Amino acid sequence: MLQEKRITIAVDGYSSCGKSTLAKALAKSLGYVFIDSGAMYRGVTLYCMRQQLIQHSKPQVDLIEKELHNIRLTFEFNEASASSDLFLNGENVEKLIRMPDVAANVSKIATIKSVRHKLVEEQRAIGQDGGIVMDGRDIGSVVFPDAELKLFVTAAPEIRAQRRKKELEEKGVIISLDEVIANLMERDMIDSTRAESPLIQVEDAIVIDTTELTREEQLLKALELVEAAACRS
Ligand code: C5P
Repeated sequence: MLQEKRITIAVDGYSSCGKSTLAKALAKSLGYVFIDSGAMYRGVTLYCMRQQLIQHSKPQVDLIEKELHNIRLTFEFNEASASSDLFLNGENVEKLIRMPDVAANVSKIATIKSVRHKLVEEQRAIGQDGGIVMDGRDIGSVVFPDAELKLFVTAAPEIRAQRRKKELEEKGVIISLDEVIANLMERDMIDSTRAESPLIQVEDAIVIDTTELTREEQLLKALELVEAAACRS
């Protein structure tokens, strides 16, 4: 019997627009691997913060480059949360990488060329056999330019901020809406204007605006697009 081809699905978009939630649901429903590439940038950031490689809010690029070979990032499936946790050199850092201090530094670390090269290489290795949903900022443009399906997820700014605040509160972090908005705006700006693989909506990406859609509606829409993409390929 012919087996349906396991395709590669790239999900890109701005911070907190719902891309991870959709990508995770999509992977679960298809039995694919889900990779949150942002977690990897956050993991490198946490390492740099711990090693004091960020001084007065400035990443020490030369020192960071020399340290990159000491940073080992792996994912392990967590039954309780039904998703993968990020491990940094063997330590589960899933909770720590979501904290506001990491969020405040991650986009600066993500502008560093050598950091991006390391992570893109690792992401390509994870996805080499297809059957993967990866979310991030440069997945359709750089990591998997030949992905059979590219989604670009958007949502209204106030919805994004409210979702992010709720997400943080669920993790026990109390933060004002203004602080959340400031962080999202700063990250959007850095992510879309950096020299090295900025966040862009590639021509062949299909936009899913999650503002007015329930999670189920988003998933159904994405599944229809997967079916069409699998038939085309
Ligand atoms: O997706 P998340 O918000 O966790 O990503 C955190 C940060 O990591 C982003 O704001 C961006 O600076 C960086 N990132 C990136 N490229 C990716 C994924 C994340 O530059 N593919």
